[in-house]
Amino acid sequence: GLEIRLASRPEGWPTQDNFDLVQAEVPTPGEGELLVRNKVMSVDPYMRGRMNDTQSYIPPFELGKTLQGGAVGEVVTSNDPGFAVGDLVLHMGGWREYAKVAAKQVVKVDANLAPAGAFLGVLGMPGLTAYAGLLAAAQFREGDVVFVSGAAGAVGSLVGQIAKLKGASRVIGSAGSAEKVEYLVKELGFDAAFNYKDGPVAELLAEAAPEGIDVYFDNVGGEHLEAAIYSAKQGARFALCGAISQYNETGETVGPRNMIQVLAKGLNVRGFIVSEYQPMQEQFFAEVGTWLAEGKLTYRETVVDGLTNAPQAFLDLLKGANTGKMLVTV
Ligand code: NDP
Repeated sequence: GLEIRLASRPEGWPTQDNFDLVQAEVPTPGEGELLVRNKVMSVDPYMRGRMNDTQSYIPPFELGKTLQGGAVGEVVTSNDPGFAVGDLVLHMGGWREYAKVAAKQVVKVDANLAPAGAFLGVLGMPGLTAYAGLLAAAQFREGDVVFVSGAAGAVGSLVGQIAKLKGASRVIGSAGSAEKVEYLVKELGFDAAFNYKDGPVAELLAEAAPEGIDVYFDNVGGEHLEAAIYSAKQGARFALCGAISQYNETGETVGPRNMIQVLAKGLNVRGFIVSEYQPMQEQFFAEVGTWLAEGKLTYRETVVDGLTNAPQAFLDLLKGANTGKMLVTV
C-alpha cells in the first residue's frame, strides 16, 4: 500500500520535498493486532512540530519512517476477539493506506452516529480540545466576553459555538480572510469577527471588544496574544492552545511585549495539551453529540481527495486553505 514518509526535516516552511511517497508491502498483523484499510486521515498543525528533531510532549517523526496521525479505517483482518472485519476504527496509523495497529490502541467508532471524518474533528481530538480548553483551561463562565483566534479552523469554530451555547455575552473571532469572517458571523453566530490581515490585531480587537475580554482562547500566539493581553479585563482567563503563527518561524520569536500587563491585570494564563483532559472525553462526547443531533452546533470540513495529496493538504492547512477541519480521504 501507499505510505508517506519523512524524507527530510524542514527549516522554516515545509515543502513537498520533505515528504516521500512509497509503495510498501501490506503488513501482516500479529496476535492482538488488526490490519486496517484507512478511509480518511487527519492533517493537524501539531504535525509541524513533529517534523523537527526536538523533544516535545510528543516524540519527533523519524527520518525515513512513515508519518503518523489520526485516521479512521475499516478492519480487514482481525487477530483480536474484540474486533470484526468491517468494524470502523479510530487509530494513530494515518499517512498510509494499510495500517497494522494494536487492538488495544484503537477505538471503535459508530458510523451511524456521524460520518467517519467527524471522529477526527468535531467529535474527535480537535473537538475535545475546544470543549475542555474553553470550559476547563479557560474556566469559562456564563456572561463572559470570549475572544478566539484561528476561529474558522477545526478547534476555533467549535470554541466560539460552545461559548455561545454556554451563555457567553459576546463572542469575537479572528481569521485570515473575508470569507472566513463572514462564515463566523453569518453561519456560526459569532457576535463579531475580523480579518487579522486587515491591520494591527490590537486595533482590530479593541474595536470588536470595546469593553474588553474575559476569556482569550489562543490558537495563534505572537501578535494575537499580545493584542489579547491589551484587551484583557482585570482577572481575565487565557487558554493557550496553540501558536501557529510561530510554527514555521526560523528567526527569533517575538513574544508579547506587554507581559507586565499580565501581572498588573492579574491574568490567569493556562497552557494545556488536550491529553490532560482525557477524563472529560465522555462528558464532551455526550454534550457535543447532543448539540449536533439537535442542530445547535454545526461544523465544516475541507476534504482533500487522495493520499498522494496529503502532503499538499498539510502544507495548505498551515497557510489557512481550510475552513473547519482539514481531512484527506485515503
Ligand atoms: P485549524 O483548522 O485552525 O488550521 C490552522 C489554521 O491556522 C489555518 O486554517 C489558518 O487560518 C491559521 N493560521 C495559519 N497561520 C496563521 C498565522 N500566522 N496567524 C493566524 N492564523 C494562522 O487547526 P486546528 O483547529 O487543528 O488547530 C488550531 C490550533 O490549536 C493550532 O495552533 C494547533 O496547534 C492547536 N492545537 C492544540 C492542541 C493542544 O492539545 N494544545 C490540540 C489541537 C490543536 P487563517 O486563514 O485564519 O489564517
